[in-house]
Amino acid sequence: MAYRRASGCLSFVFVAALLALGAASLVPQLGAAFRQPLYAARLAAMEPLTSTPVPVAGVSPEALTDTWGAARSGGRQHEGIDIFAARGTPVVSATEGIVAEVGTNNLGGNVVWVQGPGREAHYYAHLETQQPGLASGDRIAPGDTLGFVGTSGNAAGTPPHLHYGIYSAGGATNPYPRLVEPEGGTPEAE
Ligand SMILES: [Zn+2]
Repeated sequence: MAYRRASGCLSFVFVAALLALGAASLVPQLGAAFRQPLYAARLAAMEPLTSTPVPVAGVSPEALTDTWGAARSGGRQHEGIDIFAARGTPVVSATEGIVAEVGTNNLGGNVVWVQGPGREAHYYAHLETQQPGLASGDRIAPGDTLGFVGTSGNAAGTPPHLHYGIYSAGGATNPYPRLVEPEGGTPEAE
């Protein structure tokens, strides 16, 4: 249960949820704004996921290489995994969560940040493009399309790939050991 480690604030959340539901029924356009902080609190109270599907359509876990900690330019170490696929292959969310940022930066190029369960942030980088219409604050489910595999940022000149990172309060975490075959098999790349 998501509330297992947050029993202290469970009653507050429950009351707040009832108030939000009431407000949402009275003022529908405010519903999303009221519901999102509650979902954010619920996400934060969840355990981090120990296994998730590979967040690129059609890529099986057997195809992956663990490059965690490998040397990168400027003395950096690789804080994630590179998942290679054809340019334009859908990048799908590994987890449920809330879109925290749809933006760009020098290294990552076109990126999406998702706040996932257990206070972990999931980072999807080097996207060719982000999913049209995707915006900060959107609530998403596992498998929702976030963008498309590309070479933006410092991936220019490399084979197209997704850089996928997971960040907790303690810093970066290696995604590789978590990535498993999704239930029902690997979805086909579109
Ligand atoms: Zn990378």
